[in-house]
Amino acid sequence: MKTLPPGATIGILGGGQLGRMLASAAAALGYHTHILAPDAESVAAQTASSFTRADYHSRIVLDEMAARCDVVTYEFENIAIDPIDYLATRVPVHPAPAALAIAQDRSAEKSFVEALGARAAPWRRVETRAELDAAIAAIGTPAILKTLRLGYDGKGQMRIMAADQVGAAWHAIGERPAIVEQLIDFSHEFSILLVRREDGAMVSYPPPWNRHVDGILARSSLPAPIEIARHWGEAAALAGRIADMLGYVGVLACEFFATEDGPIFNEMAPRVHNSGHWTIEGAVTSQFENHVRAICGLPLGDTAPTAPQVEMENLVGAAGDRWADILAEPGAHLHLYGKGDARPGRKMGHVTRLARKDEIS
Ligand code: ATP
Ligand code: MG
Repeated sequence: MKTLPPGATIGILGGGQLGRMLASAAAALGYHTHILAPDAESVAAQTASSFTRADYHSRIVLDEMAARCDVVTYEFENIAIDPIDYLATRVPVHPAPAALAIAQDRSAEKSFVEALGARAAPWRRVETRAELDAAIAAIGTPAILKTLRLGYDGKGQMRIMAADQVGAAWHAIGERPAIVEQLIDFSHEFSILLVRREDGAMVSYPPPWNRHVDGILARSSLPAPIEIARHWGEAAALAGRIADMLGYVGVLACEFFATEDGPIFNEMAPRVHNSGHWTIEGAVTSQFENHVRAICGLPLGDTAPTAPQVEMENLVGAAGDRWADILAEPGAHLHLYGKGDARPGRKMGHVTRLARKDEIS
């Protein structure tokens, strides 16, 4: 496997906070970063070495990116596959387009992981109202209807609590191809973040307990309670099989529901993940640094926690305005993403709190 030494240039498709934190981690290891994103304001560009504001579909722009970068990665999964495929013919792209293609399609993703032995919520792919009716008859209610593609932060999802809500839910998601799945009665949600190199070397982080509010991650905390910890081994082994099967390179996030009967796979993201932001201060090596290490063929870093308790709180919407109070808190690590407009539901930053040994009762 080729090692890309510090001094090389990492291309990042996407201009959001994940790209911003990736670029900072890359800079700390002596790499240059180049952001490609269509938006005028890119919070990733603020911390990167260079920025091209352009559409992902221009061949001229992609050729230029391939020429100036030694490796390319991406920071969001709702990117079109064509530009990634095209780039991959000219420059190494990690994670590979095949992993992205699976993660972009909820039905492909669920079939893929079920074939590897995962348990997902009972689900059906539906393209028409009639198929949705039949699926609800088969799996029952409560259920959850999710667009096949382009969902994030709970967008493109509708709950169906009873059969008479089917029409409204179908209308609300835009009558598009979707999957419908049984609503799982879980005790906790958690995620496995693993990092894999091209030669198969792998490390993974201890799983955080993830709590969502309005479909958006609110908090990740460690150590996970026993309801999660007892599923850790099984879930991490599954994530490892997924990564091996895909020949995956980089950070892979897999979300799970903890239930009495074991872990239930929810979805995966072929990228660094919000439920791994705690690793910046809360783990020896952050997920961002480990992603850089993996795609550059460097040794992977230690994933052990740096404190007996770690909690990451997302600052969503107006919560970003609490920065002065957070800075006054001893030991709180504040991250603001440099976004101008604190719209409701927008991730403006996060704060990570580490408990010292003497603070644990
Ligand atoms: P993100 O990309 O932000 O992780 P998403 O929009 O892709 O989210 P999911 O992760 O599928 O969507 O769902 C968002 C949240 O909705 C989950 O974290 C969970 O809280 C809830 N949810 C999703 N599917 C189910 C289910 N089958 N049963 C119970 N709750 C569910
Ligand atoms: Mg999710």
